[in-house]
Amino acid sequence: MKRGIPMNKDVGDKCIFCFRDTSFGSGRFVNRIPASDDEYDGWACPECMAYECDRCNKPIDLDCDIDWEDEKIHEECLTPEEYIQYEKELDP
Ligand SMILES: [Zn+2]
Ligand SMILES: [Zn+2]
Repeated sequence: MKRGIPMNKDVGDKCIFCFRDTSFGSGRFVNRIPASDDEYDGWACPECMAYECDRCNKPIDLDCDIDWEDEKIHEECLTPEEYIQYEKELDP
């Protein structure tokens, strides 16, 4: 029985931020990086390290991203039709 040694919880192949699986075959394996914080030892998945636009693949500034259905994209990456709909949702 060890005492007094701070032990982080090992989350295995999971991302310590979102707890999604990063193991081989999960689609997150290639870009995962080792990560730990005060509580957990594990991995950081690519999504938690950076937001990339699902359409143009460029990084998105935190306050410029929008959730569009299940995509995370730049406002300017919306099509004109989608943009109209987006504006409506912002200001119904
Ligand atoms: Zn994650
Ligand atoms: Zn974009």
